[in-house]
Amino acid sequence: MVKETAYYDLLGVKPSASEDELKKAYRKLALKYHPDKNPNEGDKFKQISQAYEVLSDSKKRELYDRGGEQAIKEGGGGMGGGGFSSPMDIFDMFFGGGGRMHRERRGKNVVHQLAVSLEDLYNGATRKLALQKNVICDKCEGRGGRKGALECCPICRGSGMQVRIHQIGPGMVQQIQSICMECHGQGQRINPKDKCKACNARKIVREKKILEVHIDKGMKDGQKITFHGEGDQEPGLEPGDIIIVLDQKEHSVYTRQGEDLIMHMDIQLVEALCGFQKPITTLDSRTIVITSHPGQIIRPGELKCIMDEGMPVYRRPYEKGRLIIKFQVIFPEDNFLPVDRLPELERFFPTREKIEVTEDMEEVDLDEFDVTQDRRRHYNGEAYDDDDDDSGHHHRGGVQCQTS
Ligand SMILES: [Zn+2]
Ligand SMILES: [Zn+2]
Repeated sequence: MVKETAYYDLLGVKPSASEDELKKAYRKLALKYHPDKNPNEGDKFKQISQAYEVLSDSKKRELYDRGGEQAIKEGGGGMGGGGFSSPMDIFDMFFGGGGRMHRERRGKNVVHQLAVSLEDLYNGATRKLALQKNVICDKCEGRGGRKGALECCPICRGSGMQVRIHQIGPGMVQQIQSICMECHGQGQRINPKDKCKACNARKIVREKKILEVHIDKGMKDGQKITFHGEGDQEPGLEPGDIIIVLDQKEHSVYTRQGEDLIMHMDIQLVEALCGFQKPITTLDSRTIVITSHPGQIIRPGELKCIMDEGMPVYRRPYEKGRLIIKFQVIFPEDNFLPVDRLPELERFFPTREKIEVTEDMEEVDLDEFDVTQDRRRHYNGEAYDDDDDDSGHHHRGGVQCQTS
Protein backbone atom coordinates (compact mmCIF):
# COMPACT_ATOMS: atom_id res chain seq x y z
CA MET A 1 0.00 0.00 0.00
CA VAL A 2 1.25 3.48 -0.82
CA LYS A 3 0.66 6.49 1.39
CA GLU A 4 -0.61 8.85 -1.31
CA THR A 5 -1.44 8.46 -4.97
CA ALA A 6 -1.31 12.10 -6.14
CA TYR A 7 1.79 11.62 -8.31
CA TYR A 8 0.36 8.47 -9.83
CA ASP A 9 -2.96 10.23 -10.42
CA LEU A 10 -1.19 13.09 -12.20
CA LEU A 11 0.28 10.61 -14.64
CA GLY A 12 -2.94 8.62 -14.80
CA VAL A 13 -1.39 5.30 -13.74
CA LYS A 14 -1.90 2.85 -10.92
CA PRO A 15 0.58 2.74 -8.03
CA SER A 16 1.57 -0.69 -9.32
CA ALA A 17 2.60 0.78 -12.70
CA SER A 18 5.75 -0.62 -14.28
CA GLU A 19 8.64 1.55 -15.44
CA ASP A 20 7.40 1.24 -19.02
CA GLU A 21 3.88 2.31 -18.11
CA LEU A 22 5.26 5.36 -16.31
CA LYS A 23 7.40 6.29 -19.29
CA LYS A 24 4.49 5.98 -21.66
CA ALA A 25 2.20 8.02 -19.43
CA TYR A 26 4.79 10.77 -19.03
CA ARG A 27 5.54 10.80 -22.73
CA LYS A 28 1.91 11.34 -23.70
CA LEU A 29 1.19 13.97 -21.10
CA ALA A 30 4.46 15.87 -21.52
CA LEU A 31 3.84 16.22 -25.24
CA LYS A 32 0.26 17.26 -24.67
CA TYR A 33 1.05 19.91 -22.06
CA HIS A 34 4.39 21.15 -23.37
CA PRO A 35 4.29 24.98 -23.44
CA ASP A 36 4.88 24.92 -27.22
CA LYS A 37 1.56 23.18 -27.67
CA ASN A 38 -0.38 24.30 -24.65
CA PRO A 39 0.99 27.62 -23.41
CA ASN A 40 -1.72 27.99 -20.77
CA GLU A 41 -0.98 24.75 -19.00
CA GLY A 42 2.47 25.52 -17.66
CA ASP A 43 1.51 24.45 -14.17
CA LYS A 44 0.24 21.12 -15.31
CA PHE A 45 3.43 20.59 -17.32
CA LYS A 46 5.48 21.29 -14.21
CA GLN A 47 3.42 18.95 -12.03
CA ILE A 48 3.67 16.11 -14.52
CA SER A 49 7.44 16.59 -14.68
CA GLN A 50 7.81 16.55 -10.92
CA ALA A 51 5.67 13.45 -10.58
CA TYR A 52 7.71 11.72 -13.26
CA GLU A 53 11.00 12.86 -11.77
CA VAL A 54 10.10 11.19 -8.49
CA LEU A 55 8.43 8.05 -9.81
CA SER A 56 11.05 7.29 -12.45
CA ASP A 57 13.75 7.06 -9.80
CA SER A 58 13.38 3.85 -7.82
CA LYS A 59 14.81 5.38 -4.63
CA LYS A 60 12.61 8.45 -4.75
CA ARG A 61 9.60 6.37 -5.69
CA GLU A 62 10.11 4.15 -2.67
CA LEU A 63 10.43 7.22 -0.47
CA TYR A 64 7.24 8.69 -1.93
CA ASP A 65 5.33 5.44 -1.54
CA ARG A 66 6.28 5.31 2.12
CA GLY A 67 6.04 8.95 3.12
CA GLY A 68 4.13 10.77 0.39
CA GLU A 69 4.95 14.21 -0.95
CA GLN A 70 5.99 15.39 2.50
CA ALA A 71 8.87 12.92 2.53
CA ILE A 72 10.05 14.13 -0.87
CA LYS A 73 9.83 17.78 0.16
CA GLU A 74 11.81 17.14 3.31
CA GLY A 75 14.60 16.28 0.99
CA GLY A 76 15.26 12.65 1.78
CA GLY A 77 16.97 10.58 -0.88
CA GLY A 78 19.29 13.35 -1.96
CA MET A 79 16.63 15.71 -3.26
CA GLY A 80 18.59 18.60 -1.83
CA GLY A 81 15.91 20.32 0.21
CA GLY A 82 13.01 19.38 -1.98
CA GLY A 83 14.31 20.93 -5.19
CA PHE A 84 13.02 19.61 -8.46
CA SER A 85 14.75 19.82 -11.81
CA SER A 86 13.31 22.23 -14.31
CA PRO A 87 10.46 20.67 -16.31
CA MET A 88 12.28 21.56 -19.54
CA ASP A 89 15.40 19.66 -18.45
CA ILE A 90 13.33 16.59 -17.65
CA PHE A 91 11.60 16.90 -20.99
CA ASP A 92 14.88 17.34 -22.87
CA MET A 93 16.47 14.46 -21.05
CA PHE A 94 13.53 12.22 -21.87
CA PHE A 95 13.25 13.22 -25.51
CA GLY A 96 16.96 13.44 -26.15
CA GLY A 97 17.34 17.21 -26.33
CA GLY A 98 21.01 17.05 -25.45
CA GLY A 99 21.06 19.11 -22.26
CA ARG A 100 21.51 22.76 -21.44
CA MET A 101 25.05 23.30 -22.79
CA HIS A 102 23.90 22.09 -26.13
CA ARG A 103 20.82 24.21 -26.10
CA GLU A 104 22.61 27.51 -25.79
CA ARG A 105 24.38 27.26 -29.12
CA ARG A 106 21.51 25.60 -30.87
CA GLY A 107 17.89 26.33 -31.58
CA LYS A 108 15.36 24.35 -29.69
CA ASN A 109 14.27 20.86 -30.60
CA VAL A 110 10.70 20.32 -31.62
CA VAL A 111 9.02 17.09 -30.58
CA HIS A 112 5.99 15.68 -32.37
CA GLN A 113 4.03 12.56 -31.67
CA LEU A 114 3.00 10.33 -34.55
CA ALA A 115 0.20 7.80 -34.12
CA VAL A 116 1.00 4.47 -35.76
CA SER A 117 -0.74 1.10 -35.90
CA LEU A 118 0.85 -2.19 -34.94
CA GLU A 119 0.58 -3.08 -38.64
CA ASP A 120 2.77 -0.06 -39.47
CA LEU A 121 5.41 -1.26 -37.02
CA TYR A 122 5.22 -4.79 -38.40
CA ASN A 123 5.33 -3.97 -42.10
CA GLY A 124 7.15 -0.67 -42.05
CA ALA A 125 5.49 2.45 -43.43
CA THR A 126 6.16 5.94 -44.73
CA ARG A 127 4.19 8.88 -43.45
CA LYS A 128 4.13 12.44 -44.60
CA LEU A 129 3.91 14.95 -41.83
CA ALA A 130 3.10 18.61 -42.48
CA LEU A 131 4.70 21.01 -40.02
CA GLN A 132 5.04 24.73 -39.57
CA LYS A 133 8.53 25.89 -38.80
CA ASN A 134 10.58 29.06 -38.58
CA VAL A 135 13.12 29.51 -41.35
CA ILE A 136 15.58 32.29 -42.02
CA CYS A 137 13.95 34.84 -44.32
CA ASP A 138 15.58 34.50 -47.72
CA LYS A 139 14.49 37.92 -48.96
CA CYS A 140 16.87 39.59 -46.50
CA GLU A 141 19.03 36.53 -45.77
CA GLY A 142 18.22 36.86 -42.10
CA ARG A 143 19.39 40.45 -41.78
CA GLY A 144 15.90 41.87 -41.32
CA GLY A 145 16.44 44.66 -43.85
CA ARG A 146 18.47 45.94 -46.76
CA LYS A 147 22.21 45.36 -46.66
CA GLY A 148 23.77 48.19 -44.71
CA ALA A 149 20.45 49.17 -43.19
CA LEU A 150 21.69 48.49 -39.70
CA GLU A 151 22.24 51.66 -37.72
CA CYS A 152 23.17 52.54 -34.19
CA CYS A 153 19.98 52.62 -32.12
CA PRO A 154 18.99 56.26 -31.73
CA ILE A 155 17.02 55.60 -28.56
CA CYS A 156 19.76 54.06 -26.40
CA ARG A 157 22.67 55.33 -28.50
CA GLY A 158 24.02 51.86 -28.89
CA SER A 159 24.13 50.87 -25.21
CA GLY A 160 21.14 48.57 -25.44
CA MET A 161 19.92 49.94 -22.11
CA GLN A 162 17.50 52.69 -21.28
CA VAL A 163 17.56 54.66 -18.05
CA ARG A 164 14.36 56.18 -16.85
CA ILE A 165 14.07 58.57 -13.94
CA HIS A 166 11.16 58.09 -11.64
CA GLN A 167 10.08 60.59 -9.04
CA ILE A 168 9.08 58.63 -5.97
CA GLY A 169 8.65 61.49 -3.53
CA PRO A 170 9.47 65.15 -3.06
CA GLY A 171 13.11 65.49 -3.99
CA MET A 172 13.55 61.75 -4.32
CA VAL A 173 14.14 60.05 -7.61
CA GLN A 174 14.79 56.50 -8.60
CA GLN A 175 16.73 55.42 -11.62
CA ILE A 176 15.34 52.45 -13.43
CA GLN A 177 17.51 50.76 -15.96
CA SER A 178 15.90 48.48 -18.47
CA ILE A 179 16.56 46.86 -21.79
CA CYS A 180 15.96 49.21 -24.70
CA MET A 181 12.59 48.43 -26.24
CA GLU A 182 13.52 49.78 -29.62
CA CYS A 183 16.49 47.51 -30.30
CA HIS A 184 15.74 44.80 -27.73
CA GLY A 185 19.13 45.39 -26.14
CA GLN A 186 21.05 44.92 -29.37
CA GLY A 187 22.28 48.52 -29.56
CA GLN A 188 21.55 48.48 -33.26
CA ARG A 189 18.34 48.61 -35.20
CA ILE A 190 17.11 48.62 -38.73
CA ASN A 191 15.79 51.91 -39.90
CA PRO A 192 12.01 51.48 -40.29
CA LYS A 193 12.13 52.53 -43.92
CA ASP A 194 14.66 49.80 -44.71
CA LYS A 195 12.83 46.94 -42.99
CA CYS A 196 12.42 43.72 -44.95
CA LYS A 197 8.79 43.49 -46.01
CA ALA A 198 8.79 39.71 -46.21
CA CYS A 199 9.61 39.15 -42.54
CA ASN A 200 8.89 42.61 -41.13
CA ALA A 201 12.46 42.66 -39.81
CA ARG A 202 11.88 39.52 -37.73
CA LYS A 203 14.60 37.80 -39.80
CA ILE A 204 12.56 34.61 -39.84
CA VAL A 205 9.33 33.52 -41.51
CA ARG A 206 6.93 30.66 -40.87
CA GLU A 207 7.06 28.00 -43.52
CA LYS A 208 5.15 24.82 -44.19
CA LYS A 209 7.39 21.81 -44.34
CA ILE A 210 6.56 18.25 -45.32
CA LEU A 211 8.59 15.64 -43.54
CA GLU A 212 8.72 12.12 -44.82
CA VAL A 213 8.91 9.78 -41.85
CA HIS A 214 10.15 6.28 -42.50
CA ILE A 215 8.88 3.79 -39.99
CA ASP A 216 11.12 0.76 -40.12
CA LYS A 217 9.97 -2.78 -39.49
CA GLY A 218 10.20 -3.66 -35.82
CA MET A 219 10.22 -0.11 -34.46
CA LYS A 220 8.62 0.27 -31.08
CA ASP A 221 6.07 2.43 -29.35
CA GLY A 222 7.93 5.46 -27.96
CA GLN A 223 10.83 5.14 -30.38
CA LYS A 224 12.23 8.41 -31.66
CA ILE A 225 13.07 9.33 -35.23
CA THR A 226 15.29 12.38 -35.36
CA PHE A 227 15.57 14.85 -38.21
CA HIS A 228 18.83 16.60 -37.46
CA GLY A 229 18.87 20.33 -38.06
CA GLU A 230 15.26 20.43 -39.21
CA GLY A 231 14.02 22.39 -36.20
CA ASP A 232 13.27 26.09 -36.12
CA GLN A 233 15.95 28.29 -37.67
CA GLU A 234 17.17 31.42 -35.94
CA PRO A 235 19.90 33.82 -37.08
CA GLY A 236 23.24 32.96 -35.50
CA LEU A 237 22.11 29.62 -34.10
CA GLU A 238 22.53 26.14 -35.37
CA PRO A 239 18.98 24.83 -35.86
CA GLY A 240 17.69 22.21 -33.45
CA ASP A 241 16.21 18.86 -34.40
CA ILE A 242 12.72 17.67 -35.13
CA ILE A 243 12.07 14.59 -33.09
CA ILE A 244 9.19 12.33 -34.04
CA VAL A 245 7.99 10.02 -31.27
CA LEU A 246 6.02 6.97 -32.34
CA ASP A 247 2.83 6.33 -30.45
CA GLN A 248 1.37 2.91 -31.11
CA LYS A 249 -2.39 2.64 -31.10
CA GLU A 250 -3.81 -0.37 -29.33
CA HIS A 251 -4.56 -3.32 -31.57
CA SER A 252 -7.84 -5.20 -31.37
CA VAL A 253 -6.22 -8.65 -31.45
CA TYR A 254 -2.54 -8.44 -30.62
CA THR A 255 -0.55 -6.93 -27.80
CA ARG A 256 3.17 -6.62 -28.15
CA GLN A 257 5.75 -7.63 -25.60
CA GLY A 258 9.22 -6.94 -26.91
CA GLU A 259 9.51 -8.99 -30.07
CA ASP A 260 6.63 -11.28 -29.14
CA LEU A 261 3.00 -10.84 -29.99
CA ILE A 262 0.32 -12.08 -27.65
CA MET A 263 -3.27 -12.94 -28.52
CA HIS A 264 -6.19 -14.54 -26.76
CA MET A 265 -8.19 -17.31 -28.36
CA ASP A 266 -11.47 -18.81 -27.25
CA ILE A 267 -11.98 -22.48 -27.98
CA GLN A 268 -14.86 -24.80 -27.19
CA LEU A 269 -14.43 -27.60 -24.67
CA VAL A 270 -14.84 -30.15 -27.44
CA GLU A 271 -12.00 -28.47 -29.34
CA ALA A 272 -9.83 -28.43 -26.25
CA LEU A 273 -10.36 -32.17 -25.83
CA CYS A 274 -10.55 -33.43 -29.41
CA GLY A 275 -8.37 -31.04 -31.37
CA PHE A 276 -9.15 -28.25 -33.82
CA GLN A 277 -7.91 -26.09 -36.64
CA LYS A 278 -8.23 -22.29 -36.55
CA PRO A 279 -7.23 -19.55 -38.95
CA ILE A 280 -5.34 -16.48 -37.74
CA THR A 281 -4.90 -13.28 -39.73
CA THR A 282 -1.36 -11.96 -39.37
CA LEU A 283 -0.36 -8.30 -39.28
CA ASP A 284 0.68 -8.52 -42.93
CA SER A 285 -2.75 -9.95 -43.83
CA ARG A 286 -1.68 -13.54 -44.41
CA THR A 287 -3.86 -16.32 -43.06
CA ILE A 288 -2.09 -18.96 -41.05
CA VAL A 289 -3.87 -22.03 -39.73
CA ILE A 290 -3.00 -23.52 -36.39
CA THR A 291 -3.71 -27.14 -35.58
CA SER A 292 -4.18 -28.83 -32.25
CA HIS A 293 -3.92 -32.49 -33.16
CA PRO A 294 -6.38 -35.10 -31.87
CA GLY A 295 -4.94 -36.52 -28.69
CA GLN A 296 -3.46 -33.18 -27.69
CA ILE A 297 -5.37 -31.34 -24.96
CA ILE A 298 -5.47 -27.58 -24.46
CA ARG A 299 -6.09 -26.56 -20.87
CA PRO A 300 -7.77 -23.32 -19.77
CA GLY A 301 -5.24 -20.49 -19.64
CA GLU A 302 -2.59 -22.55 -21.43
CA LEU A 303 -0.03 -20.75 -23.57
CA LYS A 304 1.20 -22.04 -26.92
CA CYS A 305 3.41 -20.28 -29.38
CA ILE A 306 4.22 -20.12 -33.06
CA MET A 307 7.85 -19.41 -33.79
CA ASP A 308 8.72 -16.59 -36.19
CA GLU A 309 5.21 -15.13 -36.29
CA GLY A 310 5.92 -12.35 -33.79
CA MET A 311 7.24 -8.86 -34.51
CA PRO A 312 10.22 -8.37 -36.80
CA VAL A 313 13.41 -7.45 -34.97
CA TYR A 314 14.37 -3.80 -35.55
CA ARG A 315 17.22 -3.59 -38.07
CA ARG A 316 17.14 -7.39 -38.53
CA PRO A 317 13.64 -7.66 -40.01
CA TYR A 318 14.10 -11.22 -41.23
CA GLU A 319 14.25 -12.37 -37.64
CA LYS A 320 10.94 -12.44 -35.89
CA GLY A 321 9.67 -13.07 -32.37
CA ARG A 322 7.00 -15.53 -31.35
CA LEU A 323 3.24 -15.37 -31.61
CA ILE A 324 1.98 -16.47 -28.20
CA ILE A 325 -1.60 -17.67 -27.93
CA LYS A 326 -3.37 -17.76 -24.62
CA PHE A 327 -6.31 -20.12 -24.76
CA GLN A 328 -9.56 -19.70 -22.99
CA VAL A 329 -11.76 -22.78 -22.95
CA ILE A 330 -15.47 -22.15 -23.28
CA PHE A 331 -17.34 -24.70 -21.21
CA PRO A 332 -20.88 -25.79 -22.15
CA GLU A 333 -23.90 -24.17 -20.54
CA ASP A 334 -25.53 -25.74 -17.49
CA ASN A 335 -27.70 -28.69 -18.49
CA PHE A 336 -26.25 -28.86 -21.98
CA LEU A 337 -26.87 -32.60 -21.70
CA PRO A 338 -29.97 -34.11 -20.09
CA VAL A 339 -29.02 -35.36 -16.64
CA ASP A 340 -29.97 -38.95 -17.52
CA ARG A 341 -27.41 -38.96 -20.33
CA LEU A 342 -24.50 -37.82 -18.16
CA PRO A 343 -23.44 -41.40 -17.41
CA GLU A 344 -22.68 -41.81 -21.14
CA LEU A 345 -20.25 -38.92 -20.93
CA GLU A 346 -18.85 -40.10 -17.67
CA ARG A 347 -17.75 -43.40 -19.22
CA PHE A 348 -14.88 -41.63 -20.98
CA PHE A 349 -13.40 -40.03 -17.89
CA PRO A 350 -11.55 -41.35 -14.86
CA THR A 351 -13.94 -42.51 -12.12
CA ARG A 352 -15.36 -39.89 -9.84
CA GLU A 353 -14.57 -40.20 -6.17
CA LYS A 354 -17.69 -40.86 -4.12
CA ILE A 355 -17.72 -39.87 -0.48
CA GLU A 356 -19.98 -41.03 2.27
CA VAL A 357 -21.67 -38.20 4.15
CA THR A 358 -21.86 -39.19 7.80
CA GLU A 359 -23.78 -37.72 10.73
CA ASP A 360 -20.92 -35.57 11.94
CA MET A 361 -20.57 -33.77 8.61
CA GLU A 362 -22.57 -30.77 7.47
CA GLU A 363 -23.73 -30.28 3.89
CA VAL A 364 -23.44 -26.73 2.55
CA ASP A 365 -24.38 -25.01 -0.71
CA LEU A 366 -22.09 -23.66 -3.36
CA ASP A 367 -22.95 -20.00 -4.05
CA GLU A 368 -21.93 -17.82 -6.90
CA PHE A 369 -18.93 -15.79 -5.83
CA ASP A 370 -19.29 -12.06 -6.22
CA VAL A 371 -16.36 -9.93 -5.16
CA THR A 372 -18.38 -6.76 -4.58
CA GLN A 373 -20.98 -8.56 -2.54
CA ASP A 374 -18.34 -10.10 -0.35
CA ARG A 375 -16.76 -6.74 0.29
CA ARG A 376 -20.08 -5.19 1.25
CA ARG A 377 -20.61 -7.82 3.87
CA HIS A 378 -17.47 -6.70 5.61
CA TYR A 379 -18.79 -3.19 5.97
CA ASN A 380 -20.80 -2.69 9.16
CA GLY A 381 -22.85 -5.78 8.49
CA GLU A 382 -25.26 -4.13 6.05
CA ALA A 383 -25.88 -6.51 3.25
CA TYR A 384 -28.86 -4.99 1.53
CA ASP A 385 -28.32 -3.82 -1.92
CA ASP A 386 -28.98 -0.24 -2.53
CA ASP A 387 -27.61 0.43 -5.92
CA ASP A 388 -26.68 -0.59 -9.34
CA ASP A 389 -26.23 -4.31 -9.41
CA ASP A 390 -28.83 -6.12 -11.43
CA SER A 391 -26.77 -9.07 -12.51
CA GLY A 392 -29.02 -11.50 -10.70
CA HIS A 393 -26.17 -13.00 -8.76
CA HIS A 394 -27.59 -12.27 -5.34
CA HIS A 395 -27.79 -15.06 -2.90
CA ARG A 396 -28.34 -13.37 0.38
CA GLY A 397 -30.17 -14.54 3.42
CA GLY A 398 -30.26 -18.07 2.15
CA VAL A 399 -32.48 -17.31 -0.82
CA GLN A 400 -31.20 -18.92 -3.97
CA CYS A 401 -31.96 -18.46 -7.59
CA GLN A 402 -33.41 -21.67 -8.88
CA THR A 403 -32.32 -22.43 -12.38
CA SER A 404 -34.39 -25.48 -13.08
ZN1 LIG B 1 13.36 39.36 -44.33
ZN1 LIG C 1 18.29 50.74 -28.39
